[in-house]
Amino acid sequence: MSEEKYTFQADVHRVLDIVINSLYQHRDIFLRELISNAADALHKLQFQKINNADIYDPDAELKIIVDVDEEKKIITIKDSGIGMTKDELRENLGTIAQSGTLNFFEEIKKQGKDASIPELIGQFGVGFYSVFMVARKITVRSRSYKKDEPAYEWVSEGAESFIIRPTEKEDRGTEVIIELKEDAEEFADKTKIREIIKKYSDYVPFPIELDDEVVNQQTSLWRKSPNEVKEEEYEKFYQYVSHSFDKPLHVIHYSVDAPLQLNCLLFIPSFRKNILLFPETEWGVRLYSRNVLIQERSKDVLPSYLRFIEGVVDSEDLPLNVSRETIQVSRVVASIKKTLTTKILKELEKIARHEAEKYQKFWKEFGIFIKDGVINDEKNRERLLKLLRFKSNKTKDDELISLDDYLQRKPEEQDAIYYLIADDLVMAENSPHLEYYEEKGWEVLFLVEPVVDSFLLMHLRTYKDLQLKPIDVTEESVDEDGASEKEEGEKAVKKEERDEDDLRPSFKKLKERVKEVLGDKILEVKASTKLRGSPCRLAAREGFGVQFQRVYKYMTENFIAPPKVLELNPNHPIIEKLELLIESDSDNELINKIIWQLFENALLLDGSLEQPSAMVPRVNEIILAALEGATAKK
Ligand code: ADP
Ligand code: MG
Repeated sequence: MSEEKYTFQADVHRVLDIVINSLYQHRDIFLRELISNAADALHKLQFQKINNADIYDPDAELKIIVDVDEEKKIITIKDSGIGMTKDELRENLGTIAQSGTLNFFEEIKKQGKDASIPELIGQFGVGFYSVFMVARKITVRSRSYKKDEPAYEWVSEGAESFIIRPTEKEDRGTEVIIELKEDAEEFADKTKIREIIKKYSDYVPFPIELDDEVVNQQTSLWRKSPNEVKEEEYEKFYQYVSHSFDKPLHVIHYSVDAPLQLNCLLFIPSFRKNILLFPETEWGVRLYSRNVLIQERSKDVLPSYLRFIEGVVDSEDLPLNVSRETIQVSRVVASIKKTLTTKILKELEKIARHEAEKYQKFWKEFGIFIKDGVINDEKNRERLLKLLRFKSNKTKDDELISLDDYLQRKPEEQDAIYYLIADDLVMAENSPHLEYYEEKGWEVLFLVEPVVDSFLLMHLRTYKDLQLKPIDVTEESVDEDGASEKEEGEKAVKKEERDEDDLRPSFKKLKERVKEVLGDKILEVKASTKLRGSPCRLAAREGFGVQFQRVYKYMTENFIAPPKVLELNPNHPIIEKLELLIESDSDNELINKIIWQLFENALLLDGSLEQPSAMVPRVNEIILAALEGATAKK
């Protein structure tokens, strides 16, 4: 058999280019990544050994050997782990697993944010490829644990291509030989390498030997007592498990013995991984039983809304010989999940109570996951509700309030919790729906993650016996609390009559004209009791699934929002003048244009106008008319 040449998958070398250039100050992480791969390979071997007796070289000691040739400028990292077959070498070292990686990088570069790449690297893990930051030539020699697989070597001299050829290697596992670049020769230094290993890999649970001396302590940090662990150790361990550079926002180090034995070391990161860009982003914690890694990214011991948590969970009660299928149904796993969930939620409560600033940071990054929890975790809903935070028409700067704060602040006579779902804060703050509540001095919660918030509100109808009510709903539904449908119907009729009676005849004519012009675009036109400074607003009829509409809008392409009620403010000068114009010159072509414009303004303010730019020609016509009026007066 002779050698075969391959080129890297297209993404790889472009990603490499970017990584190599932007990670310069963190070049020493290449060693962390290679040692972590070696440790993973040893963990996998350990697991095979327990579940599969028939492996190659079963008695080889499980360890990592690092060798530095200071003369020749070569570093070698060798493990007795699971090894790779020829196909695995090609697959694993020739492609970047996450398809979004390149796009992500290019986006960052486009935005001129190269400097933040190091912080973001934990989001995809360049892993093995980080070695190209320091290597001129890399040789990976490997022999699989599978008995009949011969040894192969993979050689690359740069990020363009690699070759694979058969080789002689008797012992099981992988050996990575790095011939250093000229500008990375500083790493050909045993003292330096020892330091880097201590810094990043002290707690790797297999011996790491340098010059026949074991360098790392192999402490399972999570099995130590919290008061024996320094903050820096937590930090480095967090970076090791999450492949990142940031500091954790919060550390949860927790052990129990009954009813089940559990040691865990969990972290809340300081920022959220970009799950939208990386839908395939891996989440989950490392799951150990008696120091044997059972799952690298276990999704079984935490509910998915806590997927931002990183760390390690170790339980001696877990059977070692578990498979993916059996683990999910295991009673122990269910019990671990319950314990961890409660622990994490309690911890968040504690932060919320005692560390306001930290909780604020947490909420900014991970609040959306708490909402996810309210929606999906019925058992813990009460707990989760207390963790929710909101902006409102009364919060200042960074201030956020809880539902309990809201209840405490509200005036006695206010008997509901009011909210407004909007696309963003500015839109919420400028909404005409607010006017009435501002005048009363009532607080309105702003919910500005429309999709999640719509789901959230579907699950959150009342809090402590008070109803949550949207303010962009038309009158009867918002104010007439508790009335039966029939009563409400009667009230609606009465109100309608009152409108007719109280208001001037010209308003009635305006209403008719508006209905005629807008037709099916609206359900109804009526006088508003809720508007103060604005001429009109669009309000939904209650029971019309206002929440659902938002959700549909974001989930369905070409979704056409059902029509709403157009409320006109009879006291607004625009409305009064428009009535006058209809009275005096009902054929004036401005009338219909202004009606359309008012309608579209209301849509725009609600974030529901599909093509805002289409209104410009009409606005120009209206401006021209205004100018003509103004100049004619002189
Ligand atoms: P990750 O470790 O996040 O999967 P890497 O880029 O670090 O990504 O490594 C890619 C893959 O190459 C690993 O998933 C593993 O399958 C394989 N690999 C790397 N190093 C080793 C090793 N020392 N022994 C066995 N397999 C390895
Ligand atoms: Mg890796």
